[in-house]
Amino acid sequence: MKHNFNAGPSILPREVIEDTAKAVLDFQGEGLSILEISHRAKYFQPVVDEAVSLFKELLNIPEGYSVIFLGGGASTQFCMVPFNLLEKKAAYLNTGVWAKKAMKEAKGFGEVVEVASSADANYTFIPKGWTIPTDADYFHITTNNTIYGTEILEDFDSPIPMVADMSSDIFSRPIDVSKYAIIYGGAQKNLAPAGVTFVIIKNDVLGKVSRYIPTMLNYQTHIDNGSMFNTPPVLPIYTALLNLRYLKKNGGVEAMEKKNIAKANLLYDAIDNSKMFVGTAQKESRSRMNICFVMKDEYKPLEDEFLKFATSKGMVGVKGHRSVGGFRASCYNALPIESVQALIDCMKEFEKAH
Ligand SMILES: *Cc1c(COP(=O)(O)O)cnc(C)c1O
Repeated sequence: MKHNFNAGPSILPREVIEDTAKAVLDFQGEGLSILEISHRAKYFQPVVDEAVSLFKELLNIPEGYSVIFLGGGASTQFCMVPFNLLEKKAAYLNTGVWAKKAMKEAKGFGEVVEVASSADANYTFIPKGWTIPTDADYFHITTNNTIYGTEILEDFDSPIPMVADMSSDIFSRPIDVSKYAIIYGGAQKNLAPAGVTFVIIKNDVLGKVSRYIPTMLNYQTHIDNGSMFNTPPVLPIYTALLNLRYLKKNGGVEAMEKKNIAKANLLYDAIDNSKMFVGTAQKESRSRMNICFVMKDEYKPLEDEFLKFATSKGMVGVKGHRSVGGFRASCYNALPIESVQALIDCMKEFEKAH
């Protein structure tokens, strides 16, 4: 049995994968594969419509917001956000490589203010005690720092429109969408297979920049056309819909949050009580989604051996990102608590043997 701790693309519920496979062979009994029908056909519009309505229902999205599905990944949003919102100045919280990449793109459109940064400490914490400049067009945050295992677990109050990259923690907890102007993310961490990007937009933040925005990079195009301006990523959207249905059936984001807290507590406790392993993120900034840990200095030479041992026990994807080293256990919604326990058993067994 495999325990899938991949950081992304990552684990999805087994029944979601199975139902996707069925639709690839025969979509809703039509005798056609979902891969060979028109996205404009009567079959597919209901898929997009239901996915949008489940987004709104599960995240409790208020009136005045649109949900769209795009290609290009979260990385395209790094430029699309400033293209659509940045007139003079934007503020960014620098909490990791993804935040930095987002800042780099924004610099092509105007002045970028770094509100705070934990770069000097290899992004081991979420900075505190900063203020948001009120004269900026928007304030950008990365709620979960997938590489470093830090997470912002509150919805900040911002005096200016707040934009959040929620690629790796969307649907992991309830959020107050009304605090945000835009929430975006690649779907491949906690929602669907790679290939679709979700964007939740407060409609009234658009239309305020003076530049020409290319049609495909203009949010308004995709809002006006219900994500059907061009061919959307049909299959990943369908899998997203199946996963959203699964989420709803299983108690929604409230139930996911409970489960995610239980998994994270279990693993962090094991790390904190270990003589061999130590967490890399500061405690108050710890992510529930990506749990990063290394071996203490005196055991460091055993890291490769532990990785081999864990792999032999069915652990998948626990090698840490090269910028942190050690290990990273990604514990997205679909990861069962039994997998976390299996990893802990593995750590304890290894520790005993050394
Ligand atoms: C993975 C990730 C990205 C990049 O997503 P792509 O869809 O590959 O462009 C951006 N931000 C965060 C927080 C991520 O985890």
